[in-house]
Amino acid sequence: MKITGMVFYDFDDTIAVTDVFRATHGAMDMTGYDDQFFVDAFGDNKRIAQLEWHFDRLKVRGVKISIISFGWNAVIRESLERVGLADFFGEDLIFGNDSKLMLEREGIKGEVIREQIRLHQYSFDRVVFVDDNKENVGFCEKEKICQTLHVNHEGGMNEKDLKTIERIFH
Ligand SMILES: [Mg+2]
Repeated sequence: MKITGMVFYDFDDTIAVTDVFRATHGAMDMTGYDDQFFVDAFGDNKRIAQLEWHFDRLKVRGVKISIISFGWNAVIRESLERVGLADFFGEDLIFGNDSKLMLEREGIKGEVIREQIRLHQYSFDRVVFVDDNKENVGFCEKEKICQTLHVNHEGGMNEKDLKTIERIFH
């Protein structure tokens, strides 16, 4: 399928409704956490279904989705797996703090996005970065890297945020 754009999501407090990194004290091994912990981290089953619908909607429109996070790759992957959302994200499209690209770009999310845009030759209006962190969003705005959506409230992306993103790729 032809790729028509890309969305980069932050993980903690954006896809997740909580800060998983902080809640687990930066742990890399999630085996001690039960499934309910992960459902709670994504809100509840209703929100997980909303996320699934949202990601699927973008997928059928040829939009690639990616995660850029200060959390660990393995933790993000496991969190997504435990709630059945992992298949939407290719192995090479999760950029945790310990990913090669994040290390190369010294943890500057906007630089990771810039590199991906250059690599895939996307245009400004077909790339969106979503994050609850104002600094991360501000960098992309200042540098005119891509479109941004600042999640300026607690509890991660809500229905309105999801719709805002979907509308960009109508
Ligand atoms: Mg966050």
